[in-house]
Order: sequence, then C-alpha cells, then structure tokens
Amino acid sequence: MFSLNRQPIALISDHADPAAEIGLEEAGGQNVYVRQVGEHLAHLAWQVDMFTRKVSSELPTIVQHSPHCRTIRLSAGPEAFVPRDQLFEHMPEFVESFQRFESKQGTNYPLVHTNYWLSAWVGLELQKKRGIQLVHTYHSLGAVKYPAVLDRPAIADTRLNVEREILEQAACVVATSPQERENLRTLVSLLGQIEVIPCGTDTENFRPMPKAEARRQLGLDLQEQVVLYVGRFDRRKGIETAIRAGAALKEQGINNLKLVIVGGSSPDLPDGKERARVEQIVAEVGLQAEVLFAGRVGHDLLPLYYTAADVCVIPSHYEPFGLVAIESMACGTPVVASDVGGLRFTVIPNQTGLLVPPQDTASFAEAIYSILSDQLWARKLRRQASVTVNQRFSWPGVAIQLSELYRHVLAQSIMHEQPWPPKMASNQLTSAQRYSWVKTVNR
Ligand code: UDP
Repeated sequence: MFSLNRQPIALISDHADPAAEIGLEEAGGQNVYVRQVGEHLAHLAWQVDMFTRKVSSELPTIVQHSPHCRTIRLSAGPEAFVPRDQLFEHMPEFVESFQRFESKQGTNYPLVHTNYWLSAWVGLELQKKRGIQLVHTYHSLGAVKYPAVLDRPAIADTRLNVEREILEQAACVVATSPQERENLRTLVSLLGQIEVIPCGTDTENFRPMPKAEARRQLGLDLQEQVVLYVGRFDRRKGIETAIRAGAALKEQGINNLKLVIVGGSSPDLPDGKERARVEQIVAEVGLQAEVLFAGRVGHDLLPLYYTAADVCVIPSHYEPFGLVAIESMACGTPVVASDVGGLRFTVIPNQTGLLVPPQDTASFAEAIYSILSDQLWARKLRRQASVTVNQRFSWPGVAIQLSELYRHVLAQSIMHEQPWPPKMASNQLTSAQRYSWVKTVNR
C-alpha cells in the first residue's frame, strides 16, 4: 500500500534481508536492525521500503510487513546465496533493479539509508545519478575487522575505499556507539558528519521472567549452572573461547555446567564448517555432556533461553554493536563479553556484566565463575541489567532519533537548494557551512 501523504524513504540492505529468518548464515544483527528500524519508522509516519537482494526464486518479491512498511527483493546476480565477499560484482545490477523499481512505482526516494558497505556503494551510485540524500550505517567496519582476521579477502581495498567515500559523501553516517565514531575518525576519515544513534531491542519481548519457568519450558535442570551463547557460527564470534572457558570451569570443579549454544548452520555453507570445527573442539576438550547445540531459535523463544541462563557469554573478536548483549541484559541475564567495539558501550562492568580481553580463555572462565559463584551479586547484576537496557536501548527511541535525523537532512537539502553535501569536495566546505550543519544535527 502506498500513501500520498507520507514521505517515502528507502532502506537498502543488500545481503541482509529484513524479512529473513534470523540466526542462519549471514542473517544476524543487520537484518534485525533494518527490520525494526523500518517498522518503527513506519509508525512515525514515513512510507518505508526496504530493499534487499533476492536469494531464492521461491521467496516472494514483495513482503508487506505493515500497511506502510515492506521488504522488496531485487534481482542482482543469481537467485541463490552468495557470500558477501563475492557480492560486489552484482551491485551494478542492484542499482539498475532499484531504478527500474522506482520508475515502475513512479517514486523517487529523496532519502536513502544504506546499510553495510555494499549498500553504501549502491547509494553512492544513486547519488551520482540524481541528488538523493544519503544516510549510512556501517554494521561492520573493514578498517577494524581486517587487522583481526588472518585471511584478508581480495575485496578488502575496494571496501575500505567505499567506507571512506560514504563517510565523506553521505549527509550523515550513523555510528551505533561512541567507540564506532572514534574508529571512524581515527581509521577512516576526519571528514563527514557522524551521529551516534545506538541499536535497540524489543523490550516487550526481551524482558525478565521467572527463571524456573523458563528452565521448565526448555527442559533444563534447575540445579545446573547454565552459560549461554547466542549468535551465528562465524569464527570472529569466538565460540571456541566459550568452549575452552567451559572446559576450564569444569577443571576448576564446576560439575553441573551446561553450555547452551544457540544459532543455526547449514552443512554446505561456511557456518556449517565453523559448527563442525566447534564440535571438534568440544570433543577434544571432553565437553560433549555439557554442551547443548540448540540450533536456530527465533525471537519468540529466545527470551526463554536468555532467562534460563545464569550468564550469557559474548566472546567476539570484534563486535560493532552486538544485539545479543542488550537482548540478554533486557531479560535480566548478566553478560560476560569481550572488551571490544560496541560491547564496551552496552555492557557496564560490574553493573550489568563483565568485560574481558577477547580470546583470553582464562579471563572468560574467571569472569563466568565470579558470577556463578556469587548468587547475591548475580541477582544484583540481573536487576541492573534489565533496568539499564530499558533506559538506554529501545527501538522506538532509536527510530525517533533516526526520524529526526532524516527530517534535518531533508530540511537542510531544501534550505541549501542543492543536495547536501554541496557538490564540492567536503574538505572545501566553509567552517560556517559545517557549523550550521553540526548545530542542526547535534542538537
Ligand atoms: N539470532 C536469532 N536466532 C539465533 C541466533 C541469533 O534470532 O539462532 C539473532 C539474535 O537474537 C540477534 C542477532 O541474531 O538479534 C545477532 O545480532 P548481533 O548484533 O549480536 O550479531 P551479528 O549477527 O550482527 O554479528
């Protein structure tokens, strides 16, 4: 349904389908972010179209989520899963499909919010063709990620260039934490506008409930010490650290440990290979009896898992934001997380959980043990965790901030009677132009 009274906006999320099942290969935080942001922006009177690449002929081309919010799947490359490192060559086709869709609908989106660097490239191409306003969220930064991985993909340099270009050319980029803003400034560019707007969580779904009831429903023993991991099977998620920390806890004499691993995998895809590797480590450290692979779990049942757990562990090597942290804390479950990226922003040490060095098995084991072994303190952490998330991270609050940003961007472009930023190199902007912009956006 298309409304004439509403301002149409496009959200582009090339590889992360907002209508997909979350928790499988490459479907994680970005899918949740785009879907939640889109649906909540529609409540704020925008007409929201979310564009993604079609990965199967069996999927519908258009999914209507609510009267003013839908997902549109565009043709770009084969209608099959393609790993994101191999998607760039299909992006020109994505641009063409997007433009074809626009002319068929008779719509010119004045503002496009891109997500991840591949969509940023699409947005920059659209900007070159006509003066759209661009807002961008990175979700993951090559400049932070690549030094932490052993196998730097061939596309790395292209990605780094696009990440710099979007920062310098977009009306504004959204950093989801102050840590990300800092990374953008120190590792990407000193130019361009950055606004910090966090991710959110659905606090009506992710909320505290009685632990005994959650354990009963999941068939978990009340006497067990339950440590939970939720997320994709991806090496940078550090599941190996969680397993090895579990083995260290067992060695320390915790004999009622249950390590629950939530997340889906498919045998032929990279996440299936990571799962096989993790299973091998479980066998190697003799933790088969303690580890439970729960598979992919939807957001309808995930609150039960978070609530049933004593501790949620997030051992990522790198984490731009980490939705799992706020979902867990919203359910009142303290988090033991790597001291990296957005986790430094969301987890408050000794109040809502603990932060430890990434890949440091001994520190993870020690931090988990300190919570498991002190029930009084654990109860205090549980209470503080849910209160903190309710105060700081809700999707309606995130959507209000984005909506204000969009309005400023659109108003600014009209006031300047030319697209913003003006068609000169952004380092040639006068300080007055920069100041007026910063003043309006960073009110
Ligand atoms: N998730 C899920 N089911 C699963 C595994 C993960 O719904 O089986 C969701 C999880 O609840 C969270 C998202 O996937 O909303 C993961 O987001 P996060 O930012 O933590 O990690 P990313 O996938 O973006 O690296």
